[in-house]
Amino acid sequence: MSVTILEHPLIEHKLAILRDKNTGTKEFRELISEIAVLLCYEAMKDAPLKDVEIETPMTKMTAKKLEESDYVFMPILRAGMGMVDGIIKVIPGAKIGHIGIYRDEKTAQPIRYYYKAPKHLDKKTVIILDPMLATGGSAIDTIKALKEEGAKKIKFLAIISAPEGLKKVEEAYPDVEIYTAAKDSHLNEVYYIVPGLGDAGDRIFGTK
Ligand code: URA
Repeated sequence: MSVTILEHPLIEHKLAILRDKNTGTKEFRELISEIAVLLCYEAMKDAPLKDVEIETPMTKMTAKKLEESDYVFMPILRAGMGMVDGIIKVIPGAKIGHIGIYRDEKTAQPIRYYYKAPKHLDKKTVIILDPMLATGGSAIDTIKALKEEGAKKIKFLAIISAPEGLKKVEEAYPDVEIYTAAKDSHLNEVYYIVPGLGDAGDRIFGTK
């Protein structure tokens, strides 16, 4: 199964506050960041470790460490930016790329207007960040761009997903592991997730 839906009381609790329309920008931003860290924790459960010799105050020992620079976090602008700060505190040595995509109003096709990622993606684990996996259009375009640049191991973290988007991404890229805190009911006629949380970007950046 390439989709993992996190089921945990802490996630449920944080999602309830996040979804509430009365939750203000500051708390919303903090919750996005916290849930992103919990998603990342789950997504990295298979991360390879290397042995390192260290000395505790008591004795020498062989401990295990990640190669932090092997990880590239790739927020989809702009709402994905809200997921970066918590993750980068936990994995400060990771790299960060950016991708910007908007939907053409006439054709509904995703248009890529910005792309910047570290080199040698074939040797990295790339973790895409977008709070809302709605139609799957931006997700698919981002995965396509990363694969064109050589990325082989790609994961996707979404706070809330729509069944329509999950299905689309799974069908297009079954090798991409998706981690989400919730699978909601459906998309409405203007492609918002229901019940969802509204416009994630507006709520993170206070633009509404
Ligand atoms: N993007 C959002 O911010 N919210 C949705 O419900 C869908 C896409």
